[in-house]
Amino acid sequence: MIEMLRKINLSRAVRTMQELFPEEYDFYPRSWILPEECQQFSTQIRMVKENDATVNPTFIVKPDGGSQGDGIYLIRDPSDLKLMVGSQAKQAVVQEYIQRPLLIDKLKFDIRLYVLLKSLEPLEIYIAKEGLTRFCTEPYQEPSQKNLSHVFMHLTNYSLNVHSGNFVHSDSQSTGSKRSLSSVLYRLAAKGVDIKKVWSDIIALVIKTAIAVVPELRVYYQAEIPPGKPGPTCFQILGFDILLMKNLKPVLLEVNSNPSMRIEHEQEVAPGVFEYVPSPVDEEVKVGVIRDTLRLMDPGHKRPSISYLRAGGTEHGEEILMEAEPHERSPDDGSLPSLCLKQVYPKYTKQFNYLRLVERIAALFIRFLGVKGNMRLGPTAFRTFIRTCKLSNSNFSMASVDILYIDITRRWSGTLADSREAGMGLQAFVEAFFYLAARRFKSQPLREQVASLLELCEAQLESPPGVEERRSVSCSRAMPRTIRTQTLTHPQLASPGPLRRAASQDYRLHQRLKPRTLRANLEN
Ligand code: ADP
Repeated sequence: MIEMLRKINLSRAVRTMQELFPEEYDFYPRSWILPEECQQFSTQIRMVKENDATVNPTFIVKPDGGSQGDGIYLIRDPSDLKLMVGSQAKQAVVQEYIQRPLLIDKLKFDIRLYVLLKSLEPLEIYIAKEGLTRFCTEPYQEPSQKNLSHVFMHLTNYSLNVHSGNFVHSDSQSTGSKRSLSSVLYRLAAKGVDIKKVWSDIIALVIKTAIAVVPELRVYYQAEIPPGKPGPTCFQILGFDILLMKNLKPVLLEVNSNPSMRIEHEQEVAPGVFEYVPSPVDEEVKVGVIRDTLRLMDPGHKRPSISYLRAGGTEHGEEILMEAEPHERSPDDGSLPSLCLKQVYPKYTKQFNYLRLVERIAALFIRFLGVKGNMRLGPTAFRTFIRTCKLSNSNFSMASVDILYIDITRRWSGTLADSREAGMGLQAFVEAFFYLAARRFKSQPLREQVASLLELCEAQLESPPGVEERRSVSCSRAMPRTIRTQTLTHPQLASPGPLRRAASQDYRLHQRLKPRTLRANLEN
């Protein structure tokens, strides 16, 4: 999870989804990966400025493995990038800076939301109904050359602002530099803000982000945990950092794989004497998250899970709400407080299932990985994939397949920090798949090309193999687990075929319902 959610990897995963669904994934600021996209970044910014001299965007540079604001800085010109640490190129993300965040008491703040990834197969996601808001300690001004280095104005990290003389530790949850999310939403509601809409946008952001990272997580997961065996139950509590823009649109800043669960803070109780004292707002939010996680994960708890009761989800277009539903109030005998974690997936399957295209590509990838524990596809396995799915023909020979493999794999091995294992990783395979889809279904938009190629491949894998394929498939894995288990969560769908068709229909219906305007960028 740590690997997956590092800033570069998260940016790549979201970018893949932005290629397929630009409108749905416009909640993540435009990002470039350093050092490899440095040139691209400089050229694009120069062009934007040349086209319109009044545009003067700001960018935030974040080191790849960084946390707590470490090493972050703002720039207005690509020439201000610090590309090297000693003799080594710095791995970082440079991102469009959101210049007009929503302010409260003239201060910038962000939201920390706790999300439980309860299971990957089937995908189950819970969101905590209460979260934290972390405030800056210097009144906000839009970035200018003068204030770029004012961290207490631009960065909301608790770990930074706690060192500002203006930081207010508070006993109340609605004042001070760390407040409960509900107290902030209450204030916004009092000003007439539609907070149901804000919540439903946040839920959508969380589900879409999970959908972006799950394909690669599945690859890690299958390498660690043998399929089909009763193994350990894995779950993870994630910390989503979200910024609200002035127009109330939520923007994803990052996802923390290991969010702090501290419920006290350090305080100077006498001059020079520091002690840990309870932090009521942290306690209020975090105790509930841990308690509910344990209640939901408890293996002795044999109550049928809400997810199975509600498999199939709600109808298209049904409002996404945050209020507790009667069956969610308490899974126990009533002696414990009601659940603060709300299930959002599979509950909202129908609204979001059409986005799960890359997961289906990952299922193909895993199927052809061959040896258990592998995370990269070798050239033979890639050829087997092409042959089994009947993707080569007179216009696309096996020699071209080999060139495609070498070309993409070589490029990706240069960009990955850890390229000890040779072969084609999932992200490279996805790129190859997009290429194959675009070649085959020329005139359609990318997402339709990809959906069509997936249908084709999945149909080939379902049909009984001929002699040639029987030989090649024998070195690959049997039925992809993803598809097998997804079928279980959709009792109305008897086989992978209908599942696939249902997902495609979901997708097509969605396309008809959606306006086609593309927002290339996050306007603020
Ligand atoms: P870290 O893991 O080091 O905390 P973050 O991505 O959370 O890195 O960024 C630190 C802080 O910088 C955020 O809490 C937020 O206040 C600010 N920030 C990050 N990205 C942006 C952005 N694109 N636009 C505006 N502010 C941002």
